[in-house]
Amino acid sequence: MATSRLKRNNIYSKCLIAAAFAAAIFTQAAIFTQTVAWAACDRLAYKIAIDAGHSVKHPGAISATGRGEYLFNRNVAALLYRELLNSGFVNAFLINEDGGDMSPKDRTEAAQNAGAVLFISLHHDSVQPQYLLSWQYEGKTLRYCDKFKGFSIFYSEKNAVAGKSIALAGLIGQGLLAQGLSPTLHHAEAIPGENRALYDAEKGIYRFDDLIVLKTASMPAVLLECGIIVNREEEQLLQNHDYQMKIVKAAAKGIERFLCDEH
Ligand SMILES: [Zn+2]
Repeated sequence: MATSRLKRNNIYSKCLIAAAFAAAIFTQAAIFTQTVAWAACDRLAYKIAIDAGHSVKHPGAISATGRGEYLFNRNVAALLYRELLNSGFVNAFLINEDGGDMSPKDRTEAAQNAGAVLFISLHHDSVQPQYLLSWQYEGKTLRYCDKFKGFSIFYSEKNAVAGKSIALAGLIGQGLLAQGLSPTLHHAEAIPGENRALYDAEKGIYRFDDLIVLKTASMPAVLLECGIIVNREEEQLLQNHDYQMKIVKAAAKGIERFLCDEH
């Protein structure tokens, strides 16, 4: 009996040692895999240009509550910059950080001069004037349209690496869908000012060849319209930090997958 208990204890301790050994190997393997993954994707090497569309003086679209588009763009650009830094892309940078006037071509040139491997331009959307209605907000008469809502992503076939831009747009679109957001298809309507070719309706990707900030970029480039700020409900969402972070995380994940997994 005593001998058999001793044997059992012996077997039991051997099992424990084997389990501990296996766990140690597993942990080592996990650390190794993580190290290899990070090493395979040299995040330090990637310079990512983040462009906040428009400027303080020329803010772009005016929201339903009278807020200039640039303020929305600047905010999301700053959040994306921080998110990329936190993901290890410490060489991400903002174009036109001070909000001064800068032409689209100057923006892509600045990205190229800095050695950017990717260019993302952040915007907030509007609609054609015939859709705008008037309302009173805080004593002011302002314009709004609640008919359309959602994000859209643009690429240009005239971009130097259009195929890669499409891939980047696809990954960002996928990320936005995964965050529960939906695209707007209003840019495809056959009316003056729109009439854009829908490349991927599910992910809200449009082809817009002559968009200067995309066609003059020498690197993969996309323009993301985060949402429609003339839509009264969507404008409120777009000012909500949690909602902004859904957009930012989708964009950052798409960029990460583009640089680390897919290419
Ligand atoms: Zn814009």
